[in-house]
Amino acid sequence: MSAQPQPPPPTVLLSSTVFRYSNMEPTESSTADKGEAQNFGAPFDAANADVILRSSQSIDFRVRKANLSDASPFFETMFSLPQQDPRADNHKSQDADDYVDGLPVVQMQESTTTLHHFLTAVCPRILLSLPSSFEECIPVLAAAKKFEMHAEMATFRTAMRAAGMYDAPGTPREVLRAYGTACREGLEEEATSTAGTTLSHPTYGLGLYGDAIRSVSGNALHTLLCEYDQDSRNEVFSVLEDAVRMPLGRFPLLSSCRDLGAYKTVYRDAVAPKWWVDYWNVILDEVESGMRKQTAQAIVNGLDLYKAMSNHAHQSACKSCLNMDTVHVEEYITWLAGEITRASKTHFDFERARE
Ligand SMILES: [Zn+2]
Repeated sequence: MSAQPQPPPPTVLLSSTVFRYSNMEPTESSTADKGEAQNFGAPFDAANADVILRSSQSIDFRVRKANLSDASPFFETMFSLPQQDPRADNHKSQDADDYVDGLPVVQMQESTTTLHHFLTAVCPRILLSLPSSFEECIPVLAAAKKFEMHAEMATFRTAMRAAGMYDAPGTPREVLRAYGTACREGLEEEATSTAGTTLSHPTYGLGLYGDAIRSVSGNALHTLLCEYDQDSRNEVFSVLEDAVRMPLGRFPLLSSCRDLGAYKTVYRDAVAPKWWVDYWNVILDEVESGMRKQTAQAIVNGLDLYKAMSNHAHQSACKSCLNMDTVHVEEYITWLAGEITRASKTHFDFERARE
């Protein structure tokens, strides 16, 4: 048998079954390109690297096993499994790809972008790098979850929060895709957050989301657009009704309004001025019927409320309301907006969305 060119003997070897651990899990459209792999380069090109993680697009990241093992029980177990010399393996044609420069290659399901950002959270002395969009962060979090890297997940979420990503997660389609992926990957925090964001999307039906709907399971979609929307609407309606019926605790100056008590028996024992209840009644009806979104932004409008008060003050010659400082209206509005926001987001059933 003639001598064949072989890669230099690796210092640590893994069996080919270990390399293909990802085949045991459902794959996306990310099968490895059989073409030549390329190096990602700095900062994942350290001379002391002892393993290569290969992205689904065949880009190689050279890292240290110790860093992966420290961060992840998954990798720790993986690297502690019995290892074998590839030269003794029966499947030489397959294994030729599994070693580069003597380093074992682990084929990952993750894309290059995901792997890059994911590894910045894992490797010390490399600056954490966030993807540019909330949607792109989801697969990174999913990878961290899959590999049981809880501390890194927390770090990543903190950075996302600091960057304002949860407050502005993108266009409706981006938000829905992120929601679908978060549900599928078991990321409750991101699923709940994006579900909350969809409440402020205009209700123009499914056309708003276009092909992003394909990224969401039927259960996740139904939970979001039917159950969650209605539950949150009911919850907001109830909060709003209480607030409107008895505003005096939060808006004590209304207690000197001439209209006070006019609705006492008319509107469910409201202890509020008539003009006030008239103003909110219109909004309550629209929220209940679905004509108006159940968000603070859609419901609470300080200027409109002030105008209603001003009209009443002139018509009823109510000195109290006529001299009301806008600051008091604003204070009430701010408080009510907070209550509505809280109420609107309390009913997302993550477990149901995941079914
Ligand atoms: Zn008044």
